[in-house]
Amino acid sequence: MDSPECEICGSIPDFAAANLREGERLPEAVRRLVDTYPWPEGFWDTSKEYEITKKCPLCGQLYTYNYYYEFSIGYIEESVWIQRRGLSKAANLDDKRGSRC
Ligand SMILES: [Zn+2]
Repeated sequence: MDSPECEICGSIPDFAAANLREGERLPEAVRRLVDTYPWPEGFWDTSKEYEITKKCPLCGQLYTYNYYYEFSIGYIEESVWIQRRGLSKAANLDDKRGSRC
């Protein structure tokens, strides 16, 4: 069954990480994903890590988005990673097990 990825998901690897303080960034397509859960409260503390779920607005593919932030004197670490989720809950999608979706 030929099930090509959509325009957005085709530009996002199964897993991508970036150290923001090192000038790294996630793929541009990640910015087109929409948040499916609101941002957590109490974020800007000295050290925070949280995960939210992002969703592709075109095909509905879900991603786990992790944000990590740590601050101390003379030292700031800020990094993110994103990981594509399995399709077990996407009932209307073709069976793509076996492919790296
Ligand atoms: Zn997509």
